Formats: sequence, structure tokens, C-alpha cells
Amino acid sequence: MARLEVVFLGSGGSIPTENRNHPAVAIRYQGWNLLFDAGEDVQRQFERARLGNNKHMVIFISHMHADHILGLPGLLLRFSLLGRIRPLQIFGPKELIEYVRINQDTIHLGTTFETTVYAIEAGPIIEIDDIKVSAFEVNHRGYALGYEILYQRPRGHFIPQLASELGVPKGPLWKDLALGKSVKLDDGRTIRPEEVTDTPPPPIKIVYTGDTRPCETLRQVSQNATLLISEAMYCTSHAELAEERGHMTAAQAAELARDAGVKYLALTHYSPRYGNGLEILKEAQHIFKNSILAHDLMRLEIDKEGVVKRSNTSNMSACDNIA
Ligand SMILES: [Zn+2]
Ligand SMILES: [Zn+2]
Repeated sequence: MARLEVVFLGSGGSIPTENRNHPAVAIRYQGWNLLFDAGEDVQRQFERARLGNNKHMVIFISHMHADHILGLPGLLLRFSLLGRIRPLQIFGPKELIEYVRINQDTIHLGTTFETTVYAIEAGPIIEIDDIKVSAFEVNHRGYALGYEILYQRPRGHFIPQLASELGVPKGPLWKDLALGKSVKLDDGRTIRPEEVTDTPPPPIKIVYTGDTRPCETLRQVSQNATLLISEAMYCTSHAELAEERGHMTAAQAAELARDAGVKYLALTHYSPRYGNGLEILKEAQHIFKNSILAHDLMRLEIDKEGVVKRSNTSNMSACDNIA
């Protein structure tokens, strides 16, 4: 069963094309939508991806470049017109507060729901059930953040046989142990939940780079990540442009993924000059086999063991490489 689902709403960088929108990635988790960046037309991608308008939701913005935030006012407008009532939290660089306020004042973007914008810096940002989201600073033009999304199941599964063997009577005490509470038996013994549960699987880690050059913070955060969602704006043939404009080549993203022990690399935010991105994918796969090319509305499921697989087949292209 999927623990997390990643939905690529926009896989383009700089200029949207016929098939690829500005950057936006949604992570679905237990009725929540966590949205990373809100490129132009994200509201229609929300509709196409059937993500819902009144879900619990948090938005994380990586940096204040237009291609990452042009869609935010539209999304807020959409939610209001459709009668959203749940509050919405938005996190990002400090200029984001002014950006949302000016939109609210100048284009009458009053929302039907409570909207709170938080100026953040690197560090822990929010915890949602068993998920922790943290921000880290990256190396782009101006202040820019990437995000780490960490899912850790807090305890293993309850194993009834172990409880029976330890003499715990079936009933409320089993329930308490399954919920992670220690229990005291009539004979005075205390049984801890670790004694009757299996070992929890390792955490699932997703890293979203935003826009960046390869950098040390990204290398560190990406260590052993389950899925690295990385910008890959250029191929090596345009390496000097990547350096000048603060982006990565596909090869650089792949090297970083390989060296950090990442399980899967999803390449996104690639330049319109590469069309369907086949060149980007080939360059990355040459270095790191588990490279996936994102396209708009592509969905990836991550199960509790950290296995990544596709959860839809729309727009499958010849360059798709995972089963
Ligand atoms: Zn960008
Ligand atoms: Zn940028």
C-alpha cells in the first residue's frame, strides 16, 4: 500500500510549453496535499490531477523566481471560488509575505479560508502526523531553499503472538501496546511496546531541490534519500549556461544522486529546448541508472518499504524506465 504519492504538476523550467507547465510538485499523504512550488497554471493541473480543493494542505515555495510562484494567486482564487474552508499555510522566503499581501490588495484576492504566510529559513518547518518537513539553503541566484520530507513510521507492527508468549491477555492491553504504550500486568511486570512489535522500516526520505547548482547542503541532505526530485535544467552541452544561471546539468544531478546513495532520481524543471527531455534522461541514466524523467501529471507511489513505482500510465513516453 502506498504511503506517499508524488504528483508532478509541472515539469518545465523557465517557459511553459504545450505539454509542460511551470514547476509544481504535490506530495499526497493521508488526506494531505503538500505542494512544493506553484508555477503558472498550477490551478488547472490541480484539477487534472484530481487533488481536491478542500484537503488539508500546506504550500512550500523554494524561491521567489516567477516560474515558481506565478500560479499561487490563481490557486488561492480557485480555492476561494470553490468554497474552500480549511486553513492554508504557506512557507517560503520572506518576500512571499509581501507577494501574497499585494495580490490580496490589488486584485481583490480575498480568500474564503484562513491563509497564513510564514517567512522561513533553513531548519525544521512543520510536522504532519509521521512526516517532518525541513528546509535547507541551496545555491541559486538569490536566496533559495530546497526541502526534505521525512516519513518515519514511529513503531513496528504489533505481533499478537509475541504478546501472548509474554502472557499479556488479549484485550485493551494489546490495544495499548499496539499504540506504542507500555502496559503493566497483574503480576507486576511491565511490557514495553518494543517487546511485541517488529522493527520499523527505515525512514522514507524525499528531497526536493528547487533551483540550484550542485552544492554541499544538497549533497548532505540527499544522503540515502529514497527519492531525489532534482532540477536538471540543462545537458552538459550547455554546462556554461547552467553555471551562469545557477542551475544543474542532468549529469550533475545524476552524479550527486549516485554519490549520495539515492535510490531513485526524478529529473524535472528541464529547459523547453530539450522538448520531451529524452536527451536529459539519457545523460542522467548513463551515470545513474535509476533516473526517471518527470512529465506533467506523472505520479509515483512510494510504499512503506520505500519502493517507488508509477501509479498511473498517462503520457507514458519511450523514455520511461521503471517498471
Ligand atoms: Zn526555476
Ligand atoms: Zn530560479
